[in-house]
Amino acid sequence: MRLETQLLHAGEPRPRIRDAVVTPIFQSSTYMSGDNEGYHGVRYIRLNNTPNHEVLHAKLAAIEGAEAAVVTSSGMAAITTALLTVLRSGDHVLCQSNLYGGTHDFITKDLPGLGVTSTFVDAADPSSWERALTPRTKVFYVEALTNPLVLVGDLAAVPRFAHAHGVLAFIDNTFATPVNFRPADHGYDLSLHSASKYLNGHTDLVAGAAIGRGELVQKVKLKLDHLGGTLDPHACFLLHRGMKTLALRVRYQNESALAVARFLEGHAAVARVHYPGLASHAGHSRARELMRGFGGVLSFELRGGVDAAEALLRRVEVAAFAPSLGGTESLITRPAATSHAGLDPDERRRIGIADALIRLSVGIESTDDLIDDLARALR
Ligand SMILES: *Cc1c(COP(=O)(O)O)cnc(C)c1O
Repeated sequence: MRLETQLLHAGEPRPRIRDAVVTPIFQSSTYMSGDNEGYHGVRYIRLNNTPNHEVLHAKLAAIEGAEAAVVTSSGMAAITTALLTVLRSGDHVLCQSNLYGGTHDFITKDLPGLGVTSTFVDAADPSSWERALTPRTKVFYVEALTNPLVLVGDLAAVPRFAHAHGVLAFIDNTFATPVNFRPADHGYDLSLHSASKYLNGHTDLVAGAAIGRGELVQKVKLKLDHLGGTLDPHACFLLHRGMKTLALRVRYQNESALAVARFLEGHAAVARVHYPGLASHAGHSRARELMRGFGGVLSFELRGGVDAAEALLRRVEVAAFAPSLGGTESLITRPAATSHAGLDPDERRRIGIADALIRLSVGIESTDDLIDDLARALR
């Protein structure tokens, strides 16, 4: 089956439970005991094995063409649990600069206390990777598309390089989604998601997922059983429901974001647009080779600087002025004042995030309404 069909049918119980076409919510923390279960065989919500978990695990693995998957209580639960599964004191992580803020802080502020060090590299420059390796490098960690500049690393080279050096390759695939990029096809060991974004797509829950090689996902699952970052069955049900329209939403968002990016690039008040679908973007040719679409997030800078950016944010009416991304409603934000406010201004400039930069997550509203609204606000 192809992804569109898998989103609806992969992992669904057969025969259907009491003939219900939709898998019901199993809001039961515990289940009747069988024989000789052992701790991890007990059926209990924290052990991630209710029918609502199982259907999601099978569906997520299917849509990324991977062996197995596990859902978690947030994207950060997936990322931290996965890293803690494979890292020991003395180990080292190689990672891409410009990582998602929570991941960056976990790697640089929490892991050192556990004796784990890290080095940041340019994911688009493979020639810089080898000198960053140490004998204890365990993981090479990258993101499919970064926030907010939507950079595209040499994503095909990452797993090849990692495996040639006995290192695991992890990727945060939140921004690309399996509609646009399938990490397992390129040999990644693990793909991580904030399912709070595109997978659920409706901006009404927080969830995460780790998808990849079966034996590794099983280890992450056992670690998750202990750390406790479990997704509740009701949230599983909502995520399951949201995922059914993933392909429809993401394809529309790919097209709409490209149209908005082209409009902005042609506008006199706009200094720069960052979107991998534009020929002017540094990652354009890599994105064309690797991805089926360029995603629904773009960012841009106004010639008028911070004051003009603030004025625009107050005037737009279709996109909501709010952080986060990947939902049905368009969201607009200024990273220097929100997601990247914690960095000092020099550090922000060094990683290319201008104070006047605006990030737009394109939803599923009419593309023309989004463009008309931006045109009016820019005027
Ligand atoms: C939001 C996000 C996360 C964190 O996910 P939560 O569900 O908020 O915990 C991780 N990575 C990326 C790329 C994100 O956008």
